[in-house]
Amino acid sequence: MYRRRRDGGGIPRARGQCPRNRRGAEAALPRSAGRPMIRVGLGWDLHRLIPGRRFLLAGVELPSDRGEAGHSDGDVLAHAVTDALLGAAGLGDIGELFPPQDPAWKDADSLELLKTAYGKVKARGWRPVNLDCVVICETPRILPYREPIRIALAAVLELPREAVLVKGKTNEGLGPVGEAGAVEALAVCLLERA
Ligand SMILES: [Zn+2]
Repeated sequence: MYRRRRDGGGIPRARGQCPRNRRGAEAALPRSAGRPMIRVGLGWDLHRLIPGRRFLLAGVELPSDRGEAGHSDGDVLAHAVTDALLGAAGLGDIGELFPPQDPAWKDADSLELLKTAYGKVKARGWRPVNLDCVVICETPRILPYREPIRIALAAVLELPREAVLVKGKTNEGLGPVGEAGAVEALAVCLLERA
């Protein structure tokens, strides 16, 4: 049943729209000289899986009869992490930094592209706090290769291994990912002022 609010407002406001709550959320953000001290970024990527290509995750090759199609080496996880970093720092996305139509990036090592993006993030005065990733594919299984993948990402981002997590999921047989025709990756990265 609809009831009129006591303060006279007819339409209930969502929490984020309430001025009092908004001020509270901003006050909770660590700040220095008016600038936020932390930023979060999200990255997502998907590549088709085709025969004759390597299956790479953060530069680690997994045994598979199919690998990621792409202009570069197709490393889906390296691309998602790059976008998470660039997004958090407000530096655009991987397509802007390394345009896929540019022959310079043909068969490029995506871990090197991630290193370049990380260098730009660092130059802006940010450093990563942690990185959390999900890779979704039917095959191969991610778990046996999780540690080398974590170590590879931690090395690029100058993080302890504990600050990097990579989880493997399947798509329960649904859609192109579930039919082993594609691999998907998601990454969330938190940055703080260096
Ligand atoms: Zn990609």
